[in-house]
Amino acid sequence: MNAERHIIGERGNHFLNRVEGDTGANISACYQCERCTNACPVSIFMDIKPHQVIRYVQMGRRDELLKSSTIWVCLSCETCTTYCPNEVGVAEVINHLRNLAAKSSVEPAERPLAVFHRTFLEELQRFGRVNEFWMINSFNLKPGILKEKWKSGVLKEEMLLGIRLFKKGRLHLLPSKSKGIKRIRKIMKQNEGILDR
Ligand code: SF4
Ligand code: SF4
Repeated sequence: MNAERHIIGERGNHFLNRVEGDTGANISACYQCERCTNACPVSIFMDIKPHQVIRYVQMGRRDELLKSSTIWVCLSCETCTTYCPNEVGVAEVINHLRNLAAKSSVEPAERPLAVFHRTFLEELQRFGRVNEFWMINSFNLKPGILKEKWKSGVLKEEMLLGIRLFKKGRLHLLPSKSKGIKRIRKIMKQNEGILDR
């Protein structure tokens, strides 16, 4: 309890204020009713449940959040946000924590999901939009990914799916740049270095 009080103190408030400022989420308004967790379709797979995420932010437990599997398991479906009676913005907070973790040196709890997230952002920066074919190829070329997919049998499934999509004309082999690429890159640049503040 004393340790908890210590964390909630200045350090906790600093982190809470930063996350509230960066996301616009009304984290202080949470009264732990757990509706977000009860509504979440994947909370059973999370080590820190959505309502606990909000509590941890209030308490300044940043490192535990960035090391959690929750931030990678979350589907960003926003059901939690919709169900929250206080409009806390749970999904926005989790999304923000995921971005913080991706930019930090913390070893992610769900490495393949973390690598996928990073690859997605890299492709977005390159083209201003994501071409599925290029993104999956870039993802596969990241260290260890192809080996893991081969072992689990996912690689074969993906190849068969790719062939089916290609035959139906739904897989575009050449990427095209978005007209809004400069704006997208500017937004991404503005969001860099949040951890350094
Ligand atoms: S639903 Fe809203 S108020 Fe209730 S625990 Fe979740 S974030 Fe807090
Ligand atoms: S956004 Fe994430 S935490 Fe919220 S309900 Fe969807 S999967 Fe659960």
